[in-house]
Amino acid sequence: MTQAAINVAYLAASACFIVGLKLLSSVRTARAGNLVGAVGMLVAVAATLLDRRVVDWPPVVAGLVAGSLAGTLLAVRTPMTGMPQMVGLLNGFGGAASALVASAELLRAVEGRALPGAPVAVAIAASLLVGWITLTGSLVAFAKLQEFLPGRPLPLPFQKTVNALLALAGLGLAAWLAARPDASAAFWGLSAVALVLGVTLVNPIGGADMPVVISLLNSYSGLAACATGFALGNSALIVTGALVGASGFILTRVMCRAMNRSLANVMFAAVGTGGGTAAAAAAGRQARAFGAEDVALAFDAARRVVVVPGYGMAVAQAQHVVKELADLLAKKNIDVRYAVHPVAGRMPGHMNVLLAEAGVPYDQLLELDDANALLPETDVALVVGANDITNPAARTDRSSPIYGMPILDVDRARCVVFCKRSLGSGFAGVDNPLFFNPATMMFLGDAKESLKSLVAELKK
Ligand code: NDP
Repeated sequence: MTQAAINVAYLAASACFIVGLKLLSSVRTARAGNLVGAVGMLVAVAATLLDRRVVDWPPVVAGLVAGSLAGTLLAVRTPMTGMPQMVGLLNGFGGAASALVASAELLRAVEGRALPGAPVAVAIAASLLVGWITLTGSLVAFAKLQEFLPGRPLPLPFQKTVNALLALAGLGLAAWLAARPDASAAFWGLSAVALVLGVTLVNPIGGADMPVVISLLNSYSGLAACATGFALGNSALIVTGALVGASGFILTRVMCRAMNRSLANVMFAAVGTGGGTAAAAAAGRQARAFGAEDVALAFDAARRVVVVPGYGMAVAQAQHVVKELADLLAKKNIDVRYAVHPVAGRMPGHMNVLLAEAGVPYDQLLELDDANALLPETDVALVVGANDITNPAARTDRSSPIYGMPILDVDRARCVVFCKRSLGSGFAGVDNPLFFNPATMMFLGDAKESLKSLVAELKK
């Protein structure tokens, strides 16, 4: 394949990535977006393999087979609730791959006594710094979400000073390597400092903020790939890396905004130590638990129901029975809508994916503001495995870690039915005073089982 043909293929692949990203921005077109992106990746991989500079086929084939097997196994075996940590792990591998390819490029040049020019040397140094930080940072994020490490923030003494010194050392070593690509001390020193910095940057951050960190590390993995693209002179890698870097960063900002937090607050405030005064406010108050029969009565009298799905719906895999319930209510001429909070669940779009899987029509989904406008005119707000995103402490309790996060105002509906297993807290580790409201019915149990019994009751 000629170089011109390869470049055309890379251009086509880049166009697929851009169109794919655009399609991914809406639930209606997301599946098509995924497919277009995958086709783009196939074209890019095929063009790279047909590049006459790729000469050694056996390792390429071995890598393809091993990678495809491992990827398929991981994708099939990972439950929906484990997606954030799986994405985290994949980001880490992406960072490591970029750093390894940049290292190989450097070592090849040094051995061949053809030292790279300044732009390529800078790109290699940047790839090593960002790629290795991405690897160890992602491994720590994975371990926290998988509960191999405690989820709470684990800051060391003088953590911020240590991190600042490590960051300065990393930048200094990167500058040294860029100026003297054959200085092996700079190469090994930079790699070691970056590996340590990944751990010390992520370790002080609480498990509650890991999805944001993973999104940021996703952006880093893109930057590392982009730098490696410059080192190799590979335009497809440059474009792909830049797209991943930019979209990861935009997603990080969207998530921070939805939680009403700044990125600096997420990275450095060690949120997640628990607390808030909601627990004190709730102390001594009794929540009222109801069975399926009583909850069914509340629905029988309703004209409008708003379903608020949360992480517990994903855990219980209750989306299908939620849809069954909604269909049943619709047959009784009850208007049913779904209120989707931007950070419900554990990853952006988590609820949209589950509801789409259950066949919920898109036009029944309401975004935060529209849902809040409708909730005061709602008879029953059915909260399915959600907690933090409904917690009124976010509006009033300045000491709460979720203070300022926009919530779904389910407390403004005439009646709230909470479908969860206990009075336990959610991701942020804070109590929800809404459980103790006179208008709240606690419908305790696994969401799927509880809703099945409710459907059976309503069918009677
Ligand atoms: P929460 O984590 O606040 O609450 C989930 C609730 O689900 C728990 O209180 C739990 O209560 C309940 N639950 C768990 N398993 C089941 C089950 N089998 N059946 C019924 N209930 C169950 O989730 P939310 O969706 O309300 O809020 C998301 C949180 O995640 C927010 O704090 C958000 O900031 C955070 N987050 C989300 C991100 C995203 O991108 N979506 C990113 C970063 C953070 P119990 O144990 O009593 O059953």
